[in-house]
Amino acid sequence: MPSPRSRRKYKPELDLNTYRAPLLAILTDLVSAPEVTASTLNKALRDHPKDGSGLFRREDIVRAYREFAGSHGLPPFDPAVLERIRLKPTRTRSGVTPVTVLTKPYPCPGECIFCPNDVRMPKSYLSGEPGAQRAEQNSFDPYLQTYTRLRAYYNTGHPTDKIEMIILGGTWSFYPETYQIWFIKRVFDALNDFSRGVDYAEAQFDAVEAALRAASQLHPDNNTTTASVQGLDLARTYNQVVQDVYRAEMARSREQAAAIRAGQRARAVTDEFATWEELEAAHRANETAACRCVGLVVETRPDHISAEEVLRIRRLGGTKVQIGIQSMDDRVLVMNKRGHDVAAARRAVTLLRQAGFKIHAHYMPNLYGATPESDREDYARLFGDPAIRPDELKLYPCSIIESAELMLHYQSGAWQPYTHDELLGVLKDCFLTTPEYCRLTRVIRDIPSTDIIDGNQLTNFREVVERALAAEGQRSPDIRGREVRGRQVAPEELRLDELWYATTIGEEVFLQMITAERDIAAFLRLSLPSADPITPELAGAAMIREVHVYGQSVGIGRSAPGKAQHIGLGTDLIERAAALARERGYARLAVISAVGTRDYYRKRGFADGALYQIRAL
Ligand code: SF4
Repeated sequence: MPSPRSRRKYKPELDLNTYRAPLLAILTDLVSAPEVTASTLNKALRDHPKDGSGLFRREDIVRAYREFAGSHGLPPFDPAVLERIRLKPTRTRSGVTPVTVLTKPYPCPGECIFCPNDVRMPKSYLSGEPGAQRAEQNSFDPYLQTYTRLRAYYNTGHPTDKIEMIILGGTWSFYPETYQIWFIKRVFDALNDFSRGVDYAEAQFDAVEAALRAASQLHPDNNTTTASVQGLDLARTYNQVVQDVYRAEMARSREQAAAIRAGQRARAVTDEFATWEELEAAHRANETAACRCVGLVVETRPDHISAEEVLRIRRLGGTKVQIGIQSMDDRVLVMNKRGHDVAAARRAVTLLRQAGFKIHAHYMPNLYGATPESDREDYARLFGDPAIRPDELKLYPCSIIESAELMLHYQSGAWQPYTHDELLGVLKDCFLTTPEYCRLTRVIRDIPSTDIIDGNQLTNFREVVERALAAEGQRSPDIRGREVRGRQVAPEELRLDELWYATTIGEEVFLQMITAERDIAAFLRLSLPSADPITPELAGAAMIREVHVYGQSVGIGRSAPGKAQHIGLGTDLIERAAALARERGYARLAVISAVGTRDYYRKRGFADGALYQIRAL
């Protein structure tokens, strides 16, 4: 049975003026320290306790710094100081702040035997996963999820000006279009409200929260979900249970949308309904907001991708698609009931690339029917096949979860998780096979160890692999293994490197700014297509699919001297891409810009089109 849902509790904010003396003493210690490490900070917190004994929270210190910097004898506000006292600095070190939100529980067209069946969650997620818990606490509402994450980042001193929105859960393309439009519009509403100030946003949050508490079955207070397929109740599938449990919720949604469309009902914040025009207005408001969406990701299945679908995701504001490939072997796909073949993955990736999307593939070693040897060969096919060659990869070895059908094969002995050494061997080879243009974004899914029946439970297995490679004098050539992250980089340390490779639509150039050790400070993905365009808007155009500059994402308008984002690397790369495209005879250069980067590209000569921004060459 599922554990009871927890009701979100926020601790009231500390009254800074009541505690001004100890807070100023801590800040004075931190500002005057030559370097702030975890132990410096902990010492300052212990030296100046709250109420004589307790410790202040780090977010209290962040708030106090914002409030008191430049007064009470403290020097003016300095983002570098904030950077030193913030929690979990690595979260935003890649230059952009990620905000992950989950869609609601909903049927999925897939029947994959390795997929968890937790009916409190959208398909494939487990209610014990940290991100999933946050989503559930917010009733899967897009506004509340986005807002609470932004608030948490802000309170812990992270930048909130450049946000990558990652929308996860089941198969995005299978959710009704009205729900999709509404979901993304509400994400943008939260970004836009947050941009108007925390007080304003807090009032909106309270209103949505109260309405959901009164009306939504998905709200923790109104939870009526006691059904479960945990414990291998395979007589009823996830889809059957979800439809049963949420029947009322789904029917209510459909009726409300129909009534709103017919003009018979006024709109409430709980109505899962929005029009394209409303979404596009929310997009426009975000173009110049303080908290901009610089990337938007959805996840879907290859057999639900069509030309129409990729252009629709684009119209929603999408820039990247997570696509479940899982295996490049039709036999393994059949054994795991994936419901699509490798040809479907090849078609989907080709269409996504034609539309300029960044392609974030999912791949699973240790599936039913695979062996360590077959996985090594299969993984190499991801990059050997010009129809695949993903830009990013989640490398998730199959785990055994009690609610997954794979449990039957585990119980019969037909499938077993790899041993530690087998897994290490496979992953080491996968790392070394990954080309420089691909980023291994995640390795090992962060499933709570209590949900894993057998096999690897180490969520830091990437580090295990990296250490093993380092012991052999090697490192992963992938992007993540080479990022400069928060390190200071002098422009003269960098040189431009161009990696050319073929795809099914033409040529691809990975332009990277690297150091002598091949550490990467910035990159640009340029498509030089020779195939017919997917939309007339792209006729005769080369395409910038991604520009990424590493370095701590400091606030808009603030400087961080020497850090990669601030030495014009993005502009240099765009100009080089334009020159390459011109040399190759393209008349135009398109970019799949995110809503929040439209202004950036306008300033670099790109004009707004229907779905893309385009510059004449
Ligand atoms: S398509 Fe994805 S979410 Fe759906 S069953 Fe398969 S793995 Fe799970």
